[in-house]
Amino acid sequence: MTIAILGGGLSGLALARLLHEKGHDVVVLEAETAYGGLCRSKTEQGFTFDIGGSHIIFSRDTEVLLFMRKMIERNEQRNDRNTKIFYKGHYVKYPFENGLSDLPEKDRFFCINEFVKMHVAVEKGELPAPQNFCEWIYYTFGKGIAECYMVPYNEKIWKFPTDQMSLHWVDGRIPRPPIEDVIKSAIGISTEGYTHQSVFSYPLDGGIEALVDAIAEPIWDKIRTGFRVTSVRKKDGVFEISNGSEVIVADQFISTIPVQHLVAALDNVPISVKEACAALRYNAIVCVNIGIQGEVPDISWLYIPEIALGMTNRISFPSNYSAHAAPGGCGSVLAEITHQPGDEVSRMDDAALIDQVVTTLEAMHILTKEQIVYSSVERQPYAYVVYDLDYQKNIAIVKDYCSTAGIPLVGRFSQFEYLNMDGCLRSVLDFVAQRMDS
Ligand SMILES: Cc1cc2nc3c(=O)[nH]c(=O)nc-3n(C[C@H](O)[C@H](O)[C@H](O)COP(=O)(O)OP(=O)(O)OC[C@H]3O[C@@H](n4cnc5c(N)ncnc54)[C@H](O)[C@@H]3O)c2cc1C
Repeated sequence: MTIAILGGGLSGLALARLLHEKGHDVVVLEAETAYGGLCRSKTEQGFTFDIGGSHIIFSRDTEVLLFMRKMIERNEQRNDRNTKIFYKGHYVKYPFENGLSDLPEKDRFFCINEFVKMHVAVEKGELPAPQNFCEWIYYTFGKGIAECYMVPYNEKIWKFPTDQMSLHWVDGRIPRPPIEDVIKSAIGISTEGYTHQSVFSYPLDGGIEALVDAIAEPIWDKIRTGFRVTSVRKKDGVFEISNGSEVIVADQFISTIPVQHLVAALDNVPISVKEACAALRYNAIVCVNIGIQGEVPDISWLYIPEIALGMTNRISFPSNYSAHAAPGGCGSVLAEITHQPGDEVSRMDDAALIDQVVTTLEAMHILTKEQIVYSSVERQPYAYVVYDLDYQKNIAIVKDYCSTAGIPLVGRFSQFEYLNMDGCLRSVLDFVAQRMDS
């Protein structure tokens, strides 16, 4: 029996490997000329960059974390997280609520005072439960932290108003700080937040792609690149999967490609499902990669909530993740700009994007133009799922349809959920255990 796996990102490759190990005949159909999806990396002039934005290996899920670390075991650099938020020229420890002592005095008072006031009001039951993401931010952090960081940063990354976003996803994803930690942080006693990520791994050589390379190694000959699935039809008990010029026949298929691509490839999809699918929101991302002669700050990554500093929402320093990510004497910076399909950013050419990022980095005193020895731009159409208020209604319609049609969905844009690599691998492991072991 042949199982076709649509999409050769982390999810598709991990699925293929596990099914292959169980004796199934698999074929991975990947649209791009290289597999890896968001987990691809490139090395040019001695600089290695992740092309789907900066990736690190971490997880609360011990089984998945061990799996990922095992895959890169002879190629692993362990790092202590040193992450900051750039706020009015200050480097504030991340998460923001654990770094209040780094704020200017007035802002520190504003944040701690409002945090305590909100906490007391919530404890006394004086506030109605939050109904959207914006209300949740105020309810959890108070007006100070909300207005100095949480709302501006989130609106910058999501490119969407927080009061039009659902809050079903925040628990477990955005740390809820204990009040003692926030008070300690405001008076300068060091505390850590988001501790499952305070130490992270990264491949020494090859960037994050080294992880997918290791996963793909036993199944290289099962991967078809350059095969963009455009139609899937059931005929005489088998599936005919086509890219418009060639047909692959499979007894079963599993989709890891964006649901939008899957729905477009299927016949006779009801209009209500097509409409629900079209209404699902997501962001694209532009990554601007810069290599410099000289050092970069000793920081893992840096959030930039201020709109005045330009379009970049986050920068990371790959040369701090791996000693091999930049040539000797050089450092590297990866700037991420999320955007909406078809907006101003998507119309900017590479030179304009690099210019925009260099202006930001110069304003932050991270580098000077003269230090730059390398630059490039990467674009990914699918980067983040955006949870608007209709998300749960729309995704339920799409998933119900796929489930009734017997189409398994595995992966970030296939399940259309904010899944990190660990979440994708958890879905893969569960799918194989529950659906393929019987
Ligand atoms: C900016 C950014 C930073 C991130 N940082 C981290 C991090 O630090 N740690 C972490 O754990 N996770 C991180 N992630 C999440 C991580 O990238 C994803 O969870 C993971 O890569 C998703 O893998 P996937 O295979 O499900 O999807 P994808 O990587 O999107 O793979 C889907 C594949 O399907 C292919 N495809 C699409 N359409 C078709 C078609 N019609 N036919 C055939 N193939 C098709 C695509 O080309 C792609 O290769 C980050 C994501 C982003 C955007």
